[in-house]
Amino acid sequence: MDKLGIPKNTIDILNKYGFVFQKKYGQNFLIDTHVLEKIINAAEISKEDFVLEIGPGIGTLTQYLCESAGRVVAVEIDKNLIPILNETLAPYDNVTIINEDILKVDIASLVRDFNDNKPIKVVANLPYYITTPIIMNLFENHIPLSGVTVMIQKEVADRIKAVPGSKDYGALSLAVQYYAKPYIVANVPPNCFLPRPKVGSAVINLIPYDNSPYQVKDESLLFALIRASFNQRRKTFINSVTNYEGLTFDKNTITEALDALGLPRDIRGEALTLEQFIAISNYLSANS
Ligand code: SAM
Repeated sequence: MDKLGIPKNTIDILNKYGFVFQKKYGQNFLIDTHVLEKIINAAEISKEDFVLEIGPGIGTLTQYLCESAGRVVAVEIDKNLIPILNETLAPYDNVTIINEDILKVDIASLVRDFNDNKPIKVVANLPYYITTPIIMNLFENHIPLSGVTVMIQKEVADRIKAVPGSKDYGALSLAVQYYAKPYIVANVPPNCFLPRPKVGSAVINLIPYDNSPYQVKDESLLFALIRASFNQRRKTFINSVTNYEGLTFDKNTITEALDALGLPRDIRGEALTLEQFIAISNYLSANS
């Protein structure tokens, strides 16, 4: 099978099957071999690795994954792509294609069944309309992960790696950085895809912590405080938290926590580091 990263090969197979792109599925297929090689190199895949690919499309990245990984499971929602994948991946005996919505797949049991619960790598050119739920599901469900290397919208990559005080800093930055260290591997322009997306893209590598550097007494309280802060980001931390429906702290309790931690009473959530959110959360768990 010819490499699909070469534009002519992609166009030929799409024409052969009369494939019609479905906008609702975020279908932008990669047609640039350099970008494909960058993804594979950044993911540091070896024959020891089990890789989950989300949204294989016509199998462009999957071909590379099959060549470098021990085993690949690819989950694709669009049933019209399955016959194409059966042809483009025919030379490989280490790949399983699942025709399913990734948000409905029980990834934890997939890792148990296919990989004895050992950590897996997730490598994908993600459908942009569900980037955040896909990434958060992987982390929040504590899927055993040794790496996540994904193509996402440039703007989302910037939010993930943002630091306190910057305009991109928010709940997504904190949530991802709690679980993993983010690195931007490459910025990828629209002309590397067919059809061209309207936005710029980036490949991001998320390296999950083996041992978390953070000690959190109550994760759900931590994430509620983070959500509350960025729900009304122009307000002070005290006002956002005390006005947030999911939390029942009064002003005195939050003021006491800020005073005890030496933080200004008028601080906004967008100025707090992850460590400071954790310190406030742990203080509230212990003292209220
Ligand atoms: N990996 C291919 C490539 O790089 O050329 C295709 C990437 S394209 C950006 C995203 C793919 O995800 C499409 O094939 C789309 O049909 C698939 N997809 C969209 N929503 C999905 C979902 N909920 N579950 C699984 N696959 C999905």
